Amino acid sequence: MTQEDQDRPTISLVIPIWNEELVIPELYRRVLQIMESIGDSWEMICVNDGSSDRSLELLLALRNQDARVKVLDFSRNFGHQIAITAGSDFAEGDAVIVMDADLQDPPEVVQRMVQKWREGYEVVYAVRTTRQGETKFKLWTARVFYRLLKQITDVHIPLDAGDFRLMDRRVVLTMRRLREQHRFMRGLSSWVGFHQIGVEYERAERYAGETKYPLRKMVRLAISAITSFSYVPLQLATFVGFALATLSLLAIVLTIILRLSGSSFFLGQATTLVSVLFLGGVQLIFLGILGEYLGRIYDEVKNRPLYIVSRAYGFVPDAPAPAGRAVVFHSPSAYDPGRATQSAVQSAVPTPNDPLR
Ligand code: UDP
Ligand code: MG
Repeated sequence: MTQEDQDRPTISLVIPIWNEELVIPELYRRVLQIMESIGDSWEMICVNDGSSDRSLELLLALRNQDARVKVLDFSRNFGHQIAITAGSDFAEGDAVIVMDADLQDPPEVVQRMVQKWREGYEVVYAVRTTRQGETKFKLWTARVFYRLLKQITDVHIPLDAGDFRLMDRRVVLTMRRLREQHRFMRGLSSWVGFHQIGVEYERAERYAGETKYPLRKMVRLAISAITSFSYVPLQLATFVGFALATLSLLAIVLTIILRLSGSSFFLGQATTLVSVLFLGGVQLIFLGILGEYLGRIYDEVKNRPLYIVSRAYGFVPDAPAPAGRAVVFHSPSAYDPGRATQSAVQSAVPTPNDPLR
């Protein structure tokens, strides 16, 4: 075992934070409590996802009093899924636990996750049995979404599990190889395989503040999930095409028979108009679906970094970049940003010495 290995914490907590000034003190208190009762060494990686409130200030103050708190400060808001990605890119622990800042994922469940991990499971995901403080609409749409996703993908993505999960280091190192732009992390962590198990829990109410997931963002995440894990929407065009073609074939035969039999029954202009509009609509829908996939291909081809860390507090500046496709500037100390050192501007291809050392 090298010195570096000895310094590594056993458990890394990864916590995305966007305008959570109201919850940070309580979050730290609860984390401290639970990690002390578990007893392993730990670190808490907070990813400040472009907060415009005092979140960063509070995090740096925490870091000042407890070096186990580490902070990645994004250059702007990159979104929840990317924040989780960055946190796990930097996590050093043998187990990495991703949880929300708002204490909806009770830190107490962490204990049960660690237990399962010790039993040999490599991914322990938390399944919500009940959810408090959510609207009926959110509960219902989430339920339908997970079941729909299950129908149209081959990857076994557990029902009703969010991003609250524990991943063994092996899983995390593997996940670092997956550098796609539009990320549905719960899907990716299922896709990698390994021994997985769920633990059930009751999702608590948000401790304070507002949800950062309005409907618009939920829909975007759902579309990312579907396009990342299924071709069914694309194939739908083929099925609908065949069905409509068969129907019109029948209609053609029917028309010929009617004409030959001298019937005076013929469909008028309105029918023509309606069917043209209908078909136009169907075609536009499928163009839109094609566009969704095409846009995602375009985003991949552009090969932009997934995130930009404008200041990383608490990480070794000279360490190799944790994974590709990211820009990271280090800060020597929490209150003295000093001269920024850039350690990682990388392309999509991870360097050989990086993740699987
Ligand atoms: N979050 C983030 N960036 C965003 C949106 C959310 O880092 O763009 C964080 C947020 O601070 C919280 C977690 O992601 O820690 C989950 O967000 P939230 O609790 O608002 O989602 P909900 O539980 O309502 O689905
Ligand atoms: Mg929440």
